[in-house]
Amino acid sequence: MESKPETKWVACPDCGSNTRTKLRKDTILFHQLVFCPKCKKEFLVNVNAFDVVVVKEGHRII
Ligand SMILES: [Zn+2]
Repeated sequence: MESKPETKWVACPDCGSNTRTKLRKDTILFHQLVFCPKCKKEFLVNVNAFDVVVVKEGHRII
């Protein structure tokens, strides 16, 4: 039996609530914007599997 979850919501780095971005266990993202409906803020993240790293570079959006 496989007990590890197949998918997971990205938690908001500010308030810890779930954002609207869902990950698979094999999801890889670079500079993905995730939106928190509670804070109404966007966060820039890198994701490798379920490892979410918030990218701090102000509000520079190319
Ligand atoms: Zn939040």
